[in-house]
Formats: sequence, C-alpha cells, structure tokens
Amino acid sequence: MADIIQLLPDSVSNQIAAGEVIQRPASVVKELVENAIDAGAGQIKVNIKDAGRTLIQIIDNGCGMSDTDARMAFERHATSKIRSADDIFAIRTLGFRGEALASVAAIAEVELRTKEHDHDIGTFIHISGSKIITQEPVRCDSGTNFQIKNLFYNVPARRKFLKSNPAELKHIINEIQRIALSNPEVAISLHHNGSVIYELTGTNKRIRIVSLFGKNINQNLIPLDTETSVVKISGFIGQPRYARKTFGEQFFFVNKRYMKHPFFHKSIMQSYEKILPPDSFPSYFIYFDLDPADIDVNIHPTKTEIKFENESAIWQILQASVREALGKFNIVPSIDFDQAGSVEIPMPLREFSNVSMPGIRINPDYNPFDSTKNHSGSGNSSFLKPSERSNQTNWQSLYKGLEPNFETQPETWDDESVQFKIEEQQTIKNSVQFKNKYILTPVKSGLMVIDQKRAHERILYERLMQVLENNEVASQQQLFPETFELNASDATLLTSILPDLRALGFDIRDFGKNSFIINGTPGVLNTSSPIEIIESLLEEYKNSPANLQEKARETVAISLAQASAIPYGQTLKTGEISELIDNLFACQTPNFSPKGKKILSIMPLEDFEKLLK
Ligand code: ADP
Ligand code: MG
Repeated sequence: MADIIQLLPDSVSNQIAAGEVIQRPASVVKELVENAIDAGAGQIKVNIKDAGRTLIQIIDNGCGMSDTDARMAFERHATSKIRSADDIFAIRTLGFRGEALASVAAIAEVELRTKEHDHDIGTFIHISGSKIITQEPVRCDSGTNFQIKNLFYNVPARRKFLKSNPAELKHIINEIQRIALSNPEVAISLHHNGSVIYELTGTNKRIRIVSLFGKNINQNLIPLDTETSVVKISGFIGQPRYARKTFGEQFFFVNKRYMKHPFFHKSIMQSYEKILPPDSFPSYFIYFDLDPADIDVNIHPTKTEIKFENESAIWQILQASVREALGKFNIVPSIDFDQAGSVEIPMPLREFSNVSMPGIRINPDYNPFDSTKNHSGSGNSSFLKPSERSNQTNWQSLYKGLEPNFETQPETWDDESVQFKIEEQQTIKNSVQFKNKYILTPVKSGLMVIDQKRAHERILYERLMQVLENNEVASQQQLFPETFELNASDATLLTSILPDLRALGFDIRDFGKNSFIINGTPGVLNTSSPIEIIESLLEEYKNSPANLQEKARETVAISLAQASAIPYGQTLKTGEISELIDNLFACQTPNFSPKGKKILSIMPLEDFEKLLK
C-alpha cells in the first residue's frame, strides 16, 4: 500500500488552529486589542460593522512593526514575546503563542498598515486566506491599523454558527469591557456601525468601572486591598444591596489578564453568604497580581483559564480580604478607602501548608433581609445559641417553690424517670403560644402559663451572670461593625458602663464625639441588632432602681437581658417554644424574672371545672 500520510499545507493547519482561537468576531477583537496592549498602545480605537461580520478595525498608537516583522507576524508560531519555553513562566504580555494573526489571516481578509515611530514610511500588507496579496510601503500613522473583513468567508460552518448581530455585538462588548477593566490607563473607544458605544479616556480602575457600568455603581463599590508575599489582591467588590439577579459584573484579572475562575467565584459567594438577597450575585472587579511563575496561563488557547500554583492559599486570602472589605466598609463609610492602610495578612514566603488567615468571625445567622424585628436576632428558627440548646432540664425546680397541689413527689421521679421523660417531652410538645405573649403548657395539675419575655430574660440573665462569674467572655464579631451616635448624657452613661459591657462580651469602642463602634456582641446573645440592644439597654439601666445601680455589673446584665429578650408580640415556632421551656427549667430560678417578677403560674384543674359549672 502506498504511503498515505502527508503534511497539511499551512493554510489548512492555520484554519484548523483558527478554530480554537477564533470562534466569533469577538475573538478577533480580543486578540487584536490584546496585541495593541502588548505593543504598548496608550490609545486603541475599535470600529465594527455588522457585529464584526463585515469589518473589524483596530487602530493603535503602539510600537508598530518593521516591514519584515509585519510579514512575519502572520506566520504560525511567530511571536516577538517569547524566545524559549522557559519564558512562558515569566510572561507579562497577553499574547505569546504566536497564533492569533496566523489564524485570523486564514479565515478572513486582512489589511494591515503599520509604522514604527522613528520611521517615515510604513508597511501595507493585504492577506486573504493565508495568502499574501500585496505588500508595499505606505504613508500611515505610527502604530498599527488592522482591518479584518469578511470573517469566515471561507469557513461556512463557522459563519452558520454565528448568532444574531446583537448577540455577537454583546460578545464584542464583553471583550472590550474585560480589556478596558484590566487596562484602565489605556484610552479605548468602540464604535459600531458608526455610532459610539464606548469612548473611554485613560484613567484609574474606579473611574473606568463607573464609565463602563454607570454612575450608580460608584457609591456601591467597596475597595479591596491586600498584599501578601503570595499575591496582591486589589480592586472593588459591590455592596450587597447592589447585587443583581443576573450575572455580568463579575470580573477576575490576573496580571492584567481577564480570567474565569469558578473556584474563586465560589469563595466570593461564600464571603457574601447570608448578606445577599436570594439568587443574586454581587458585583466584583478583582485584580490579582503575582509572580508569573506561580500561574500557568497556557492551559487554554484563549488563555482565560488559569492555573494557580497556590490556589488554596489564594482562595483563603481572597476570602479574608473580601470579608475584611465588607466589614471595613461598614465601620467608616465616609473614609476614602484608597487612603486606608492595606490589610496585614502575614504570609511566610512560599510556605503555604499552614496558612492561617486573619479571622473575621461572622455571625452565621445574621440575615439583614430578615424583616422580623427579632431582638435576639436569629434569622433561623431558634433564638437560642445552638450550642446552648440543651435537653437537660431541671423540672424539680418548677415544683419546688410553686406547686403544692402537684401530685408527683420528687422521690418517685427516679423510679419513673423513663415514664417521666416521655411525659415531659409530651408536655413540651403540647405547649402553645397564646396571644404572642404567653406559653401555655399542660401539666398534671392543670395548665401552666409562662410569660415568654420574662422567661427569656431569666435565661439570658443567668447566662450573662455565668459569663461574668467565670470570666468567660465570648464575643461574637459583627460581620458589619456598626457605628452609632448617642446624645451626650447617654454617651456618658454608656462610657461609664463600657468596662462591664466588655466583661459581658461587647466589643464597643468610644469613637469620640458621642459616637461608638460595635465590633462584637456577647456570644450568648446571638444578636443581629446590637445598636437597638444598646439603646434599650441604656433605657432599662436608667429605669433600674437606684439600689440596684450600685451593683453595676448585675444591673448591666439585667438590663441587657431585658433589652435582648424576645419581645411580646413575637410569634414563636414550635421548636422555639420547647427550647424556651427547656432552657427556662435549666435555670436556677425559673419562677422569677431578674427583676423579681413572676414568670409562670399554674391554673389548677379544679379552676377549669369551676369555670364550667
Ligand atoms: P502573539 O501575540 O502571541 O505573539 P500574534 O499572532 O497575536 O502572536 O502576533 C504576532 C506578533 O505580531 C506579535 O508577537 C507582535 O510582535 C506582532 N504584533 C501583532 N500585533 C501587533 C500590534 N498591534 N503592534 C505591534 N506588533 C504587533
Ligand atoms: Mg497576540
């Protein structure tokens, strides 16, 4: 049999290669604008006709090419950007594979005018289907002017797969946005069929973002700035309230190159967890800068997928830095963040095994979209800390001071403990809330009525006292530290009890001029509205009897318990009701509120009988 293997002609292999690099008009725009950036252009003009089908023109004021280079540029694997394979790992340019121009020339008509700055005469080249039609000297501006006409004229299959003009134009706009965002100092214009889409002057990142996405975004940008030995992360993230239901304002850049990174995207979504409206995406414009040796951009022909050597370390740094930015933004909204110091994230050079990130602890239950005004703050089903939910009840105390008619004697409990356990569970399960104020629980001798607010005050008070007595301050860091201002007398009062509040787990700082910042709240409270709590705490404190005020700490604890207890009027879920009962009877003094008011009472069975006589 005759030999059948042949080398493909260049024009064919270039067409095949083009299939990878040039999928649609937007790919041409991307490749050519990237070339202009690599050529050091400060100004790039893009003119498009018919969404790129008829014409894609890119004019730059970059370095231009000599006549030989202009010819060479269209050869496959012809590049000025690398010399050896090693250079790929130090790459700072957008291109380096030397395929784009060869690919474009294989599937379109290309006219190139280019001139180096120190030359008077430039070069004109006309190529069609990889064949040079003309090459001649030409008078032209310094820099490079590409015109790509009749794209895919010789690849009907490709042409057939193109979408509508608006869809293809959208792709082009997306590419321009990415390049414009990663190179804000470069002036870029985009015209389509003679009308202006963008006319962007060279500027900084923030103004570039605003000129691309509109003024509205400006006050919603939170700056990000973190520098470690592994990576520098800068840019902006959008405020949660600015989050959109549609995807589109999410951008990652690495060393000035746009990239897709679903894994890092996930990290950001996690940082925003619970502070976003459902099914929405936060905007972000995040720039990573790192040693080119630590990334591999060569895993995909269009170089938008990038492999990071220290992916998990960067993941954590990213998350810490986004959380930090979200937190910082809320402390001092008026500060110009560009001036604020960068986040200190110490990273030993190239030691990533035990990366421990600065801990921003967030309240996982915090949900600003939870409209229920819940002083105890949990957006979930429970107003008590999950860790403190206990099944350990102290029912004896219920009967001790309270229930002379109760039939069951303490001595019999041990014998019947199993039976009792069942009854107890049953009892709790049968409890109902009444008028959003009382809890009614059937007990053997009648019906127990519990005041929901006083019960919760008791529970919180005992926990707070335990914190004070055992000196076990546990502060729950706010995701968004909050500032607040008080009138002068309240500010003085708050300052005077600050040490006690700290002992209870409040992390409050005096910010001067009667204003304060809350960074953390007592872990036992699990609150999401600390300012409201402080305000009502001050009210409760002021209204406490003078003799109590002498025992300052206890009074602070009592006032705090009162201020954070579930209010009257709040509907409780079944699980919350049983938890409340459970926790109340785990208290030392379940029958009286911290201020000595009755928490519960039993209406005897006989009274029911009398009622119906
Ligand atoms: P790559 O960008 O990967 O090097 P390309 O095929 O895109 O490969 O370009 C080939 C070469 O042509 C580049 O390396 C560069 O030297 C030259 N070139 C392309 N476009 C321009 C331009 N706008 N200005 C100056 N030189 C350019
Ligand atoms: Mg290129």
